[in-house]
Amino acid sequence: MSSAHLSLTLLFVAVPALVCAQTHLDHPMSTKTLSPGEVHRSALVIDTHADTPQRFVDEHFDLGDPLQGGQLNLESARKGNLGAEFFSIWVDPAQYKGQYAGRTLELIDSVKQQVARHRDKLEFVATPAGIELAHRERKMAVLMGIEGGHSIENSIPLLRQYYALGVRYMTLTWTNSNGWADSSGDIDDASVPHTKEGLTEFGKDVVYEMNRLGMMVDISHVSDRTFYRTLNISRAPVIASHSSARALCDAPRNMSDDMLRAVARYGGPNSKGGVVQVNFYSGFLSQAYRDAAKALEPEMNKAVQALKDQALAEGKPIPYDEIEKLQRQFGERIPRPPLSVLIDHIDHIAKVAGVDHVGIGSDFDGISGQLPEGIDSAADLPKITEALMARGYSAEDCRKILGGNLLRVFREVQQVAKELQAENRPRISEKQPFDKIQK
Ligand SMILES: [Zn+2]
Repeated sequence: MSSAHLSLTLLFVAVPALVCAQTHLDHPMSTKTLSPGEVHRSALVIDTHADTPQRFVDEHFDLGDPLQGGQLNLESARKGNLGAEFFSIWVDPAQYKGQYAGRTLELIDSVKQQVARHRDKLEFVATPAGIELAHRERKMAVLMGIEGGHSIENSIPLLRQYYALGVRYMTLTWTNSNGWADSSGDIDDASVPHTKEGLTEFGKDVVYEMNRLGMMVDISHVSDRTFYRTLNISRAPVIASHSSARALCDAPRNMSDDMLRAVARYGGPNSKGGVVQVNFYSGFLSQAYRDAAKALEPEMNKAVQALKDQALAEGKPIPYDEIEKLQRQFGERIPRPPLSVLIDHIDHIAKVAGVDHVGIGSDFDGISGQLPEGIDSAADLPKITEALMARGYSAEDCRKILGGNLLRVFREVQQVAKELQAENRPRISEKQPFDKIQK
């Protein structure tokens, strides 16, 4: 939630009454049914992936600005009743080779600068309780997740410092394998070195240390083998911060039904299981869209390469904003899939893994605006609740999907961390930072 808005003020008072009404829904005398709008406003909506920090740094975009082609700002967050956003700290591995940590820190700083500029509407938090407190104060909770394990530069001490700065999840890889974990993005590329079993010994240490710190282990983007290896060794439930279902759209980065079930089952002996947060990118939702995009790919890649070559010839930096514009133009040539495809993925994961194991990870500002019809920004999030209720999802289920499930997993991850810290095993610190991984 992003501001002390009148309707929210009313909601704040009205919530107990709504919850009460919900409890008595089955009572024959009860006529009170919550509207989708009321259900959405009563939910603590948590989105686990937005790439807006690239805009903060590269475009000097401010969350108070109009959207200007993006999908997330203060106004859209308020309209969409967005209660918490995990901003993605993503470092382009090609562009920032040799400077991963530096770029990571700049992106982290950019998120904190936004909070500093909008203290009345944003609250930087790093715990589940912090999310809830910010929500009660009618501010949007701001969190961070690192996208791509290359950001730690093979250093557990760096990982620990990112945690200290507030980073609360990390995808083990982005589309690039990093030497200790493999990515679905290059797993079939024989020229890229891969691990034998999905994670090296160092990779296992990273997962253990994330468990010990209380940083959520995010398996979005990893190869299937890395996924299963991670689940086997993680002491806490895992999340997929922005991944959809492979059964409905055959992208290597989407999750098979078996993987969906595994996320729900794993996490330790007393775990309630992890959560898969559905990615809104049309190319991960709709097979038709994906096929059409694939057909355009050769032509698009050629145009992108031409831009890069030109910059190189002129001794200028690669114009990523122009490349993004170009990709957007290509995307616009393909008809947008209907909103129902997004709901299909949520529905599918709820049926396969369980309604306690699905949520939303929009990928706003990271997918060149290629979103299903009707979803143009965070302001359109209520349409998801409306569509879920039209399919028979209860108010309670909607609240779980919109954020409750993620909050449960986050809580469990932090609880596991407390237990591991009490074990006081110095295993990781003994090995680091002097033992570098084999390259
Ligand atoms: Zn991603």
